[in-house]
Amino acid sequence: MGKRKKMMLAKKDINDVLVLLKELYPDAKTELNYNSSFELLISTVLSAQCTDKRVNKVTGELYKDYNTPETFLTLREDELGELIRSCGFYRTKSKNILKTCRILIEEYDSQLPTTIEELMKLPGVGRKTANVVASNVFGVDAIAVDTHVFRVSNRIGLANGKDVLLTEEQLMKNIPKNLWSEAHHWLIYHGRRICKARKPQCEVCPISIHCLYYKDNVIKE
Ligand code: SF4
Repeated sequence: MGKRKKMMLAKKDINDVLVLLKELYPDAKTELNYNSSFELLISTVLSAQCTDKRVNKVTGELYKDYNTPETFLTLREDELGELIRSCGFYRTKSKNILKTCRILIEEYDSQLPTTIEELMKLPGVGRKTANVVASNVFGVDAIAVDTHVFRVSNRIGLANGKDVLLTEEQLMKNIPKNLWSEAHHWLIYHGRRICKARKPQCEVCPISIHCLYYKDNVIKE
C-alpha cells in the first residue's frame, strides 16, 4: 500500500473527501435484499466470503419459505446447507444460522437483540455483521469495516490501521458520528465501483486530489 502508510489525511482533507463521497453516492445503502431485520441478519451471515449478488439470488428463493427463526428450525442442518450451498462455507453457516434461530426464540422472543454487543454473541455474527445489522435496522451509528472499507479508507488516508479493529477506531475518530453509517456505505460503493482491489481506477477517481495512495503510487510513477 504506499510508502506513506503511517500517514493520515488532515481534518480538512477528510471533510472534503466525505463531501465528495456523499456527492458521488447519495443513495448508497446495503446491496443485500431483505424485508425484515431477521432477513438482513441471515443475509449478512451468508455474505461472508460471498458476493451480495449471489446471496440475493439464494435468499430470493430461500425467504419464500423460510424467513423466521421458527420456519428455519423446521430444516435440518444438512437441508439448510443444501439450500445455501452456493454461498460457500455452507456447513458452518447452516450450523450457525440454526443455533442463532434457537437463541432468538429462547432468549429474545424471536426478535433480534438491538445492541452491537448482544448481536455479537450470536453464533456466526462477528463485529462487521453486528455493525451492519445495528446500523441498517436499528439506526445505531456504526462503521462496519469489511474488506472494501478497510482497503479504501487506508488507501485514501482516512485511516492507517493495520487491522480492521484499528481502522474502525480511527474512522470513528475521524468521521463525525452522524455520518458513520452512511460513510460505511460510501466506502463500499467506492471500493466496488472505482477503488477496486487489484486495479484502482485512479485516473477517473474524483477523490484523487486528496488520496495518499494516489500521491505515492500514481503521481510518482
Ligand atoms: S485515487 Fe485511486 S487509490 Fe485513491 S481512492 Fe481513488 S481509486 Fe482509490
